[in-house]
Amino acid sequence: MINTESILQRPISFLKGVGPTKGELLKQELGIHTNGDLLYHFPFRYIDKTKFYTIRDLNEESGEVQLKGILRRLEMIGEGAKRRLVGTFRDETGVLELVWFKGAQYLQKQLSIGGEYIVYGRINMFNHQFNIPHPEMDLVTPENTTLAETFAPVYPSTEKLNNKGADVKNRRKLLKTLLAQLTEADLPENLPTYVVQKLRLGTRFQALQWIHFPNDEQQLRVAQNRLKFEELFFLQLRLLQLKRQRKDSVKGYVFEKVGDYFNEFFTTKLPFSLTNAQKRVIKEIRRDLALGIQMNRLLQGDVGSGKTIVALMIMLIAIDNTFQSCLMAPTEILAQQHYLSIKEYVKDMGIEVAFLAGSIKGKKREEILKRLKSGEIHILIGTHALLEDPVEYHHLGLAVTDEQHRFGVEQRAKLWRKSLPCPPHVLVMTATPIPRTLAMTLYGDLDVSVIDELPPGRKEIKTLHKTDNYRPQVIGFMKEEIAKGRQVYVVYPLIEESEKMDLQNLEQGHEALSIDFPAPQYQISIVHGRMKAIDKELEMRRFVEGESQLMVATTVIEVGVNVPNASVMVIENTERFGLSQLHQLRGRVGRGAAQSYCILMSSFKLSKESKERIQTMCRTNNGFEIAEADLRLRGPGNIEGTQQSGIIQLRLADLSKDEAILKTAREIAQQIIEADTALMAPEHRCLKIHLEELYQKNKGWSRIS
Ligand code: ADP
Ligand code: MG
Repeated sequence: MINTESILQRPISFLKGVGPTKGELLKQELGIHTNGDLLYHFPFRYIDKTKFYTIRDLNEESGEVQLKGILRRLEMIGEGAKRRLVGTFRDETGVLELVWFKGAQYLQKQLSIGGEYIVYGRINMFNHQFNIPHPEMDLVTPENTTLAETFAPVYPSTEKLNNKGADVKNRRKLLKTLLAQLTEADLPENLPTYVVQKLRLGTRFQALQWIHFPNDEQQLRVAQNRLKFEELFFLQLRLLQLKRQRKDSVKGYVFEKVGDYFNEFFTTKLPFSLTNAQKRVIKEIRRDLALGIQMNRLLQGDVGSGKTIVALMIMLIAIDNTFQSCLMAPTEILAQQHYLSIKEYVKDMGIEVAFLAGSIKGKKREEILKRLKSGEIHILIGTHALLEDPVEYHHLGLAVTDEQHRFGVEQRAKLWRKSLPCPPHVLVMTATPIPRTLAMTLYGDLDVSVIDELPPGRKEIKTLHKTDNYRPQVIGFMKEEIAKGRQVYVVYPLIEESEKMDLQNLEQGHEALSIDFPAPQYQISIVHGRMKAIDKELEMRRFVEGESQLMVATTVIEVGVNVPNASVMVIENTERFGLSQLHQLRGRVGRGAAQSYCILMSSFKLSKESKERIQTMCRTNNGFEIAEADLRLRGPGNIEGTQQSGIIQLRLADLSKDEAILKTAREIAQQIIEADTALMAPEHRCLKIHLEELYQKNKGWSRIS
């Protein structure tokens, strides 16, 4: 039974030692309203004062250690910024240096040479010797020689809290107070017994005790494992339940037949044979469309894997069933290119394709809107202008979005309203492969198709890293490629904060290139975000049609643009690009038959992370591998598309490290939802209750629907 007057729901200010002022502060600063919130704000690290180490046993992995011994010497060394206080510390097994850069003078007066101290700090290797920078120092007294019984937790805090007496020590005390009052009955089991037993998870009560005050590493691991599982499991359970419920309740248009448009295209227009992966994905989607359930499918495929043609063939099925389709792209250039290539693919088939973006205005726009509403237009391609209120469709049955992570939730909701009585089927394409763990959480309520095969005959793109002093050689190489009739991209970074400077960089680069590649022998196109759409288009077109051999651009060309004759991608200031962006850019070449190259230019001095990113790029062409590396390097919060999604704010689990737990959580959640979607079985009652509690707190979960 659930205890309705649960101690966990009680306001935090009633907890002994809190009171109204501190209670208010905890609320404002950390969102801790109740005892339950306090309990679920977990430590982010622990201090282990449960044992003393000996100097002899230290190694590079020791981390934070507690030592006991005598401070033998203390002297001020160095000048200016390098001035520091160095202590010599000795226990029965060896000697170690202690170093302070800050507060050195004060400490020199405080510390007593010859005194017995308990020293606490992080072991550091310097000049092949261990030292401890900025250790905590406590003179040994009769009280403090007894060892702590548990690890001491450290919590995220704020300056305000620290100043108002709600510092770490106080937090520990509050948690001790709270935990002492809790019994098993206050923390009823929220997982079915069979799951707890199967995974040997330990009880929830114990996990919550141990996550705050573990006696040792073992207890900490047991607690973390259980709580990470809970976190990921309930998220999956909710996502899968939403997906199931949507499938059960949201009706969708039935595209029952594959008709003349599709068949004619397939047999007479398709300029190549589809890869097996493309065929499989088209089948998956066709099956979805015939079910009478609204489709929500994510199509993942590496750059160049041929997603566009898949989208087009699905749109043809829509037309075969008398529905309109729209295709949205994040930039006008990309939309334009989709428009041109799709128009070319379906030419002479009696299919009306139209383009709509911000730059289409006045009479032209009105004309398109009219033809759209009357149903004359079969396929509308454009930017998010397709979602604006005045745009009315006759019978929209399918919406495809390319590179969807740039479309927010709100825009998707707009799309929903464009079609009645059912929402259109949605196919979301992304060329930035998403690591599995992220896809499962971010898109856990969507179906996923993957094109995991490139069209045949593609040559692996060769990726090289060159520092700026190699520029003359790089220019020489570009000339050789151009002499073979190829084209070259040169890309500069563009980050909003420094937009002006970036533009300058681009323009200077352009000037320098104009000297290396003089007209009229060479023609250079230039495209950047500050240009008028019409000029961009002109420049793009010159490059697409082969009039210019070089394209100097900012990242506006990043997504989608397709010029098969381009064989070299030179990226300037590589260190300023993210991994997925680099991979996207590289995907602009290697689209034709020629051997293609990606040259990553950077300064000589690089941060460790930049180096790793560049090495990853040079090592592999596989987008999924790169996505995994990106996740590892930057953490899940920084991967594109995750910020806007509240659901990824996990307390304990880390999607870059806890893949195994996530997989298990998803599998079990899947089995449960398949068997008992509404969680009505007695053994699932605990899940239903816990999910409702969580769901009340976290409205952000409802996402698209
Ligand atoms: P992306 O998945 O990156 O959007 P595209 O759809 O732009 O890839 O396709 C990249 C290139 O590959 C295009 O030039 C396209 O015509 C070509 N292509 C797509 N599918 C095949 C195939 N099965 N065989 C040969 N070429 C293909
Ligand atoms: Mg594409």
